[in-house]
Amino acid sequence: MSATLAGAVATAACRLCPPQGGEVVAVYPGDGPAHRAAHRAWEESTTTGLPHHDHYDPVLDAFVVVRHQD
Ligand SMILES: [Zn+2]
Repeated sequence: MSATLAGAVATAACRLCPPQGGEVVAVYPGDGPAHRAAHRAWEESTTTGLPHHDHYDPVLDAFVVVRHQD
């Protein structure tokens, strides 16, 4: 598996993910507190003006922050 996860296309089944997918902009370890990813998603949304959300990816065992591509 590639060590670089940022930039990968989020493919996990997630109701918040846009149908065409989104770009993973940050990854947090799955054993860490989920609020770190949630805060990052909020921060990215505020900074970029683009919608972001976070979800837990069971394949990666990580919380990922996903940027929506309109
Ligand atoms: Zn998602």
